[in-house]
Amino acid sequence: MPELNRMEIIASGEEAELLTALLALRVNHGWEEEDLPSGETLFRVHTHNPLFFQELESELRSYLPNLDLSLDQIPELDWVEGWKEFFTPVEAGSRFIVLAPWMEAERAATKRTPIIIEPKTAFGTGHHATTALCLQALSDFYDAGRIKSGQTFLDLGTGSGILGIAAAKLGLTGIGVDPDLMAVENSLENREINAIAPEAFTVARGSLEAVSGGPFDLVLANILAEPLLNLAPGLMAQVKPGGCLALSGILISQAEKVSQAYAALGEPRIFTRDEWACLCFYAE
Ligand code: SAH
Repeated sequence: MPELNRMEIIASGEEAELLTALLALRVNHGWEEEDLPSGETLFRVHTHNPLFFQELESELRSYLPNLDLSLDQIPELDWVEGWKEFFTPVEAGSRFIVLAPWMEAERAATKRTPIIIEPKTAFGTGHHATTALCLQALSDFYDAGRIKSGQTFLDLGTGSGILGIAAAKLGLTGIGVDPDLMAVENSLENREINAIAPEAFTVARGSLEAVSGGPFDLVLANILAEPLLNLAPGLMAQVKPGGCLALSGILISQAEKVSQAYAALGEPRIFTRDEWACLCFYAE
């Protein structure tokens, strides 16, 4: 495994302030700071280039001759493997658990419906409150008998495909759209990992204009308040009479304004988590 050069500096007070200013000028790729129990700060810089550290050390010492500075080498982290440590299973709503592909033991052990997500650049691993709230809304719609197998869905802003996959696993068929090409690719990959038939969850690049086959029994849209306000008339037109709509990506402080834009569907039920609100409408 390749070695990475590490510089560690312990400083406090004015020395730490000057050091921060010097690092800001010289270390474009960033550094870490850790508060020590002693009240001092540990600064940690990494580089592949040992010459960079030679120059950096002599420049820092020209300003701060007594700096407590040490250099060593550490094995390079395997970033792909490192990712895996950060990705933990997420239980969401009454029905779902979001797992990474390598979590086979958790998959065998759970009674919940697993959604397998390959953590990539597209948004939607279930760790974010806005996604978890949508999975909760989906569970609740299903538990209350408001959506059922054989019905249709639209997942607007599908990201990793997580919500569309969850709906397909409940037996619905539908479409996910996203303007971001990476999201489209990641959602198709996740569809395959979850063994969802392509016709049960089609994915298209774009926004509302790319949607076909509506109106739907269930519409899920985890985008942000501003696009939700702009898209309100078109999005409401995609909800069948008697259908369900969950809107997410909305700050609690924005919930009232978004509710008003969708008032034609009635008064929403609002779930919150952290600073986020999810608005659930049943179009009667
Ligand atoms: N549905 C996933 C991802 C949400 S992130 C989840 O719940 O976790 C929001 C996604 O919406 C992003 O992938 C983004 O590309 C997409 N998006 C942003 N604006 C959009 C718009 N106007 N129409 C459709 N999708 C949009």
